[in-house]
Parts: sequence; structure tokens; C-alpha cells
Amino acid sequence: MVRIQKALADAGVASRRAAEQLVAAGRVTVNGRPAEVGQQVDPDVDELSLDGRPVGGPPAAVYLMLSKPAGVTSTVADRHAATTVVELVPEELRRRARRLYPVGRLDRDSEGLLLLTNDGEWAQRVLHPRHEVEREYAVGLEEALDADQLEALELGIELEEGLARLAEPLRRMTRGEVRRLEGVLEPASGPDPVWYRAVLRQGWKRQLRRMFGAVGAPVARLVRVRLGPLELGALRPGGLRELEEDEVAALAGQSPSILAAMDDDPAGETPSEATGGSALVVTLDGPGGSGKSSVGAAAAERLGYRFCDTGVLYRGLTWLALERGVDPADAAALVRVSSEIELLPDAAQGYVRLLAGGREVTDLLHTAAVDSRVSHVSRHAEVRAALLPVQRALAGAGRLIMAGRDIGTVVLPDADLKLYLHVSLEERARRRAGERGASADAAALARIEAELRHRDGVDSTRAVAPLRVPPGALVIETDGNTLEQTVEAVVGAVRRAEAERVAVGDS
Ligand code: C5P
Repeated sequence: MVRIQKALADAGVASRRAAEQLVAAGRVTVNGRPAEVGQQVDPDVDELSLDGRPVGGPPAAVYLMLSKPAGVTSTVADRHAATTVVELVPEELRRRARRLYPVGRLDRDSEGLLLLTNDGEWAQRVLHPRHEVEREYAVGLEEALDADQLEALELGIELEEGLARLAEPLRRMTRGEVRRLEGVLEPASGPDPVWYRAVLRQGWKRQLRRMFGAVGAPVARLVRVRLGPLELGALRPGGLRELEEDEVAALAGQSPSILAAMDDDPAGETPSEATGGSALVVTLDGPGGSGKSSVGAAAAERLGYRFCDTGVLYRGLTWLALERGVDPADAAALVRVSSEIELLPDAAQGYVRLLAGGREVTDLLHTAAVDSRVSHVSRHAEVRAALLPVQRALAGAGRLIMAGRDIGTVVLPDADLKLYLHVSLEERARRRAGERGASADAAALARIEAELRHRDGVDSTRAVAPLRVPPGALVIETDGNTLEQTVEAVVGAVRRAEAERVAVGDS
């Protein structure tokens, strides 16, 4: 333990004397609480912040494997959840890691192997679709499958995202396997299930539950027992252990860029250095409800690009401001809390997930409360400046579609290709109503239309970075299009731009 002014000086913040003044001025916190002059701290454990920003170097990387019990949420998004996975981690480890988040998701009702880390880059590699870390599950059904059901599952089930397939033939678990598994798990509340083993390489939301549901065999119990080379083994529900160094390395495999270059893509969908394609930075701007997020994510997945929805940043900041009682007019306070939001990739390399104040709030960003305030938060120049570096840093690695309002004009003015989605107000209101599950009665539509019109007004007339069609942008008209048609238009535009780049030899 050392005195706080020494810890601050050691971290290179200021001289001891100046550090003491910073503490006295109330600008320093320890683990979120205001610091006092002379206070004893442990620099390896305690989190010191100056003006709301963490002091010192990054925390040491932490890699954990957890056996998630049923009933615990892994997204950390559910405010009403009794427990989240992060709460299963001992306090000391949590503090050492500073921010711990799950690598991918495991449904609330599902059990088994879940990774937690504070190393975003590693998480990204493990989740990278090209890397295809295999996941194996024990699937408990109420009764055994008949031949037709088995065959249907074998052939693949048509889901919204495409054809859902198992990576290996489904098989009944042996008695020995069942005994070992049931010896580790919490006892079942109902009758003993019939257990199967399923292996997945795709990672769609609730994929196995939907696949089995589609053949009339609802999943009673679902346990992830393996992730790539890592087995759940005898880890008890709620138990956890740190990963060994070789496990950490094996899970991350080689770098995604090397894999991408080596990969021969059977569908010929993905441009790579190997096939002479050229990966671009693409901007996708448009008003709220123009479909940027769905279109951008789907197009990026088809192209093997990363995707970023910048609206999530402004929404996340708005959510956190609401939570903390920060006035949307107070730019300085907003900038202070902005250091607490962090974009994360989902399983498909879409930067569409958000941590705010250490909690995953991805599913809480599209409420009416956030909708009605977000434009008032995003209008401040200081706020926009604070969020700019994150956005630009993402573009640095290329192969990206970034969606927003000012991406082509301000964030990435030198992008390789600029797209703008145009859509009428009426069509947008209809789509938003659909997204919120609101019935499409005239009054509901009118309300949503008014809200969109208001937000458009603020977004297009604000002094900094207003919504505009960027110079040189290709405007895609989306009225009357299905989602798929607009995705086609975007994918086509990117492919043409890639081909042109190759033709002029600029790669
Ligand atoms: O795209 P989405 O509707 O999620 O964006 C929410 C709000 O975030 C917008 O209404 C706008 O005020 C703000 N925003 C922005 N600049 C961006 C993206 C979003 O100002 N690049």
C-alpha cells in the first residue's frame, strides 16, 4: 500500500505535490469514490481515476473460464436479472481485471462453458467468424428424436439468417457421458432428459433452440461442453478458473488477417489478398430508420467486412447519462461519462454491442427514453470530439462498413466508398413501428413519425456534423425495397468499388 499522491506520481500523472492538489480538488477517485489526501491505496488492485478517466497503464490481461449455471444472464444487459455472470467472479479478480466481459453469449437458460476476459482483442479473435471456433453442446430433450426429425436436423434448418447446419452429425450421448455430465450439473427439476451431442460452427442467436424447435423437439436443457480445444470437464456450475497460457493461445489461434488471406472462400464471396480483391473502408450514412444498421450488418457479413454502428455510441452515452442523472445539456459532464462506454464486437464482427459503466446495455438502447434524448446528447461538439478517436481507430484496420450520420462527412472523409441510404419519412415510421413491435395503427404511426421528424430536425440542423449526403456519395433509394434488395445494392456497390481499385492498381 502506498499513499495516493505517490501512486499518482508513480503513474506519471503529476508530481507528488501537484497530485496532492488534484486529490484535494476532488478530481481523483479510488474505485469510484472520491479520494482523500494521504489515503492508502494498492496500485495493483485499486482503480484510480482522474476526472473520470482511469489512471495508469492497462490492467494485466485476465482470461477466465466459467461454468455458467442456468438462470444467470451472460449479457449483463438485464437490469432485473438476479445475477449476472460477472457477479460470479470474486471481487479481487474483478478489480484486477477492471472490466470483465463475456466472450460471446450464452442464453440465460443455457448452462456451461463461458469465457470472460478484459482483453478485447483476444475476445475478437476468439469470436471471429473466419476462425470458426467449434462449440459443442449437450442438448437435453424431453424424448428421443425419430428418424424424420434426425434427418431434418442433418439436412439443415432454414432460419432467418440462412441455412442453419450442425458441423457434425448429431449423436445420442453414451451412458458414460451422461453419467459424467449429470454428475457435474445441478440436478434437473423435471424428468431426466434424453441427451444428444451437437457441434456448431455457426453462432446465431439461440440457434440450437430454434433448430430443435423447428422439428418439434423443444430443448429442455442446453449445456455448452466445449469451445474449440477447451472442455468444460468437471467444473461445477458457478465455478471458474483462469486459463493456462497455452489455452489462451490455442483459443485465439492465428491472427484473423492471416486466416483471411489463407482462406479459400468456397462461395467466392469474400475478397482477400489471395483472390486479388481489395478491402475498403465504406461509410453508410442516412437518417434514423433508414435501415443502416440491419443493411450494414448484413452487407458486411456477406462481404467478410467488419461493421460498426456508431449510433450505438451515442445511444449508449445517452443511456448512461439517463442512468447517472446527467443533464443532456451539460456537455462537459457528458464528456466525462463518455470514458465509461466501450464498443464491443458481436459474434459476426459487428461493433454493435455496448458496455456502459461496465455493464452490457446493448439491449437497452432502443427505448423511447433514449430515442427522445439521443439527439440532444449528440449535438454537442465536445461530445462528438470525444467519440471520434474510437471511430477512427476502428477504420484504421480497413475492411469496414461504418454506419452513422456524419461518417462520410466528418469521421472518415477519406473513405474509399461513401454510401447514403435515402428513405421517406412514412416508410421509416412503418419500419420503426415494426421493430418496436408496435401495432401499426394510425395513432402509433403518427407518434413515431413525429418523433423521427423531431430527431431528423435536430440531427440535420445542428451546428456540428449535421446529417448530410456526403460529397461524392452514392445515394441508394430504399423506399419500396425489401431489406434484401438494399443489402444487394450495398454489396454490389462495394464489389464494384473493389474491382475499380484493383483495376487502377491501388490496393
Ligand atoms: O442511427 P441511430 O438512430 O441509432 O442514431 C441515434 C442518434 O445518434 C441519432 O439520432 C443522432 O443524434 C446520433 N448519431 C450521430 N452521429 C452518428 C450516429 C448517430 O449524431 N454518426
